[in-house]
Amino acid sequence: MSASSTDLIHHPYTPPAGFAAPQPGVFKASTVFFPSVAAMRHFDWKDKSAYTYGLHGTPTTYTLEERLCTLEGGAQCLLVPSGLAAIATVALALLQSGDEVLIPDNAYGPSKALAEGELAHWGISHRFYDPLAPQDLAAKISPRTRLIWLEAAGSVTLEFPDLLEQVRICKAAGILCALDNTWGAGLAFTPFDLQPGASPALAVDISVHALTKYPSGGGDVLMGSIITTDERLHMKLKLCHMRLGLGVAANDAEAVLRGLPSLPLRYRSHDEATRALARWSLTRPEFAQVLHPALPTSPGHDHWRALCQNTPGGAAGLFSVIFKPDYSQAQVDTFCDALKLFKIGYSWGGPVSLVVPYELAGMRQGWPAHLQPGTLVRFSIGLEAVADLQADLAQALQCLA
Ligand SMILES: *Cc1c(COP(=O)(O)O)cnc(C)c1O
Repeated sequence: MSASSTDLIHHPYTPPAGFAAPQPGVFKASTVFFPSVAAMRHFDWKDKSAYTYGLHGTPTTYTLEERLCTLEGGAQCLLVPSGLAAIATVALALLQSGDEVLIPDNAYGPSKALAEGELAHWGISHRFYDPLAPQDLAAKISPRTRLIWLEAAGSVTLEFPDLLEQVRICKAAGILCALDNTWGAGLAFTPFDLQPGASPALAVDISVHALTKYPSGGGDVLMGSIITTDERLHMKLKLCHMRLGLGVAANDAEAVLRGLPSLPLRYRSHDEATRALARWSLTRPEFAQVLHPALPTSPGHDHWRALCQNTPGGAAGLFSVIFKPDYSQAQVDTFCDALKLFKIGYSWGGPVSLVVPYELAGMRQGWPAHLQPGTLVRFSIGLEAVADLQADLAQALQCLA
């Protein structure tokens, strides 16, 4: 007699326990079985002591959450489908109509667009502050301010803020501060212990990380995390996360789990190559300014040095150049198109080097005084050989001669 579907579904075999291998298993589920109705009623999805539904966690996502807490020095972690979703979840969980959020003027662009395009609909206002002037942040705090975003270094222009002073200002005003920690990745500095030895610790309240970048490391996964150290704050975020139905796919969690062991090595490698290319760019006559926090000429360099200089791998693999104003936008586009190893595309953190020209004028409240006029190009340095990348930049610059 041939096997029935029942036999194939309700099969008696269970593999032996005790399987151990370098990578944790990949558990996939929407439905999770309970041993009894009593157990179903009793299980609490909130505390990670058991399983209730795929969306609320599996062994795979719990494992990734715990490892990310270790990476960033936090206590609780939520996983969301992208870095931007992490930023949006923080806003939705913590802000209501009538509240105001403060955002650095050099923040990740879509974070500003979220405030302008969505939060505004719900009666939540926003103001942009100067990331290099803590007194401007202090002055923009009002009785309606409920959340302050921090970012170090800033997207695209890579100014490094006085993060310690910014956090002190938030604490003194009693306002929650959330850091977009994608650049630091938990490696360049420790967001929940910014001043080692200080008691109580000088810490951000929330660290958001686009795992899409270095933790994934492949350019093939989208994911974000929200990390906290305060249980009550975490629960507020977690309830919002659950009600919105946010979760991540098991295979994506597996990909990030696979990337994490090599993260510190990759980060350091990206960092070294990027510093070498940024230093070389300083020697090129085509550029009016080279932006990388480890360069003494880069805005906020002293703040970077105070916080990150002594960490092995103290900076991410990003640097930007501003072409001298005699180069037209069309010429700069030609330069980008002429690159062969550098691909034209958004995001960063993978093995392939990337280039994007930005129109800075439309991205900021005004042209920042610390930036030279001209067209800005951002490079994300991958894992190719530095000499090959330098030769590629040189041959593309040659096309401008
Ligand atoms: C890429 C990035 C994000 C968003 O991540 P996605 O996963 O692409 O949504 C947020 N913040 C910073 C600083 C980023 O670089």
